[in-house]
Amino acid sequence: MALFPGMTEPVPPDGSPRAPHLPAPSAYVQRLPIGRRIPFPADGIPFWESFPYEAPLEVKVLEAPVLPEPERHGEAGAQDCGCTKDPLRNVIWSDGAWSVRHTGEPPSLPAMVLLGPVAHHDLHDLPGPLAAGLGAMLQRVERAIMSLGGIGRVHVNRWGDGGAHLHYWLIGRPEGMMQLRGTCLPLWDDLLPRVPEDEWRESMRKIAASLAHDGGVSYA
Ligand SMILES: [Zn+2]
Repeated sequence: MALFPGMTEPVPPDGSPRAPHLPAPSAYVQRLPIGRRIPFPADGIPFWESFPYEAPLEVKVLEAPVLPEPERHGEAGAQDCGCTKDPLRNVIWSDGAWSVRHTGEPPSLPAMVLLGPVAHHDLHDLPGPLAAGLGAMLQRVERAIMSLGGIGRVHVNRWGDGGAHLHYWLIGRPEGMMQLRGTCLPLWDDLLPRVPEDEWRESMRKIAASLAHDGGVSYA
């Protein structure tokens, strides 16, 4: 029986029928053109000024859903998360409740840091006092990045598909680079020249010092 148009139901490697305890794809997923190649929309993102690639490009064939989804890093709890195994890894600032980390190596964009709670929480289970302080923390980190100068905007992203420990990406867009505005900024980080290591470390020190000015400790 076809589960999706153009696709037959995947059969487990051992040839057994689909296990009845596995969650069924949602009605939304069942409508998707799984197994088909989607044509480019005429006014879609690949035609935006900010999209970093040019034709010829093809949209990937849409893959079948994976249910249940595989566990994210740290999904099983703090004992399996970096917050327990290596709590100060890449940390440039912390006040004991929140920490700001870099990504471990120089990015291509002038500033890219991660804000998250020190304790092991995701957004949905963030305790009330931490949740209430989140807005103020986002504002502090944005201000710290803007203090570098040469930053046109600080983009704030939370995806959370890789790690279960809540982390916001705060990414500085270089001032004047209008082509880098909006959704595609992280794609440009994959393409532009890397920031020199000493310049990057100095930026991390400045961001940490700016944060520490209002409390907490710089580790940069
Ligand atoms: Zn954690």
